[in-house]
Amino acid sequence: EGLAVRARARLLDSSGHVAVIVDDITESRRVEAVRRDFVANISHELKTPVGALHVLAEAVAAACEDPVAVRRFASRMTHESTRLARLVQEIIDLSRLQGADPLPNLRPMRASAVLTEAVDRTRLAAQAQAISVAVIGDGDLPVCGDEGQLVTAVANLLDNAISYSPRGTRVVLGVRRSGETVEISVADEGIGIAEKDLERVFERFYRADPARSRATGGTGLGLAIVKHIATNHGGVVSVWSAEGAGSTFTLRLPLFTGDDDDAMTDGSDE
Ligand code: ADP
Repeated sequence: EGLAVRARARLLDSSGHVAVIVDDITESRRVEAVRRDFVANISHELKTPVGALHVLAEAVAAACEDPVAVRRFASRMTHESTRLARLVQEIIDLSRLQGADPLPNLRPMRASAVLTEAVDRTRLAAQAQAISVAVIGDGDLPVCGDEGQLVTAVANLLDNAISYSPRGTRVVLGVRRSGETVEISVADEGIGIAEKDLERVFERFYRADPARSRATGGTGLGLAIVKHIATNHGGVVSVWSAEGAGSTFTLRLPLFTGDDDDAMTDGSDE
């Protein structure tokens, strides 16, 4: 590998592109370090629920004379195994999003298609918390993307808004146009995020309050997934928050104008 890099450097050297190859090497080192960190984090994150399941199984075996205790342990086993399954699924999702073909089903659609499906997917969680979700703005705005991914992104933001808010509060899902951008925002009246955590919440496995995240079945991957989906679509995700007052996450996607890819229009005269 070293040889190949050196050969390439020489090649580029003669055409005066040394800086490019230097950047390339630093970037590939950085990518490798991030990958190693990710694997270490995954192992750690998987060990927690697996360890809990092990201890709970032993507790069930030891408490078989006490049906109330057995039921309590069994219910915690259900919680841990659900979280474990979600963690594995999200790790797979994340690696797909970073794969060779990150946008397999690209097509134009109206924002409302994404929002409606995301609201549907989080309806039960909202009901359980007596949280009302209001959808406002211009749902006709067109975006181009992978519908499944965009629904996942908005549903993850809604899920968080619901998880980190007190019962009976309101979540507003808005969509509007700003220049050539479609802004999809999820605003809650929840616990908010401290300033020191704000810029880290999009990192994989970063949680402002690990105990709370675990209790709500969180994996710490939801926002990392949203960020990758935004990037794959040429967009960005950002957050505004005030502790104790609430948070607003905004997903900005390019407005679909219809003339940038023939494959996505059906030969209309655009
Ligand atoms: P998790 O599975 O822990 O929710 P995420 O990646 O979705 O993981 O979010 C990372 C962290 O960001 C959460 O653990 C939480 O501390 C914080 N967070 C995310 N969304 C919100 C929100 N709407 N209100 C308050 N905190 C939030």
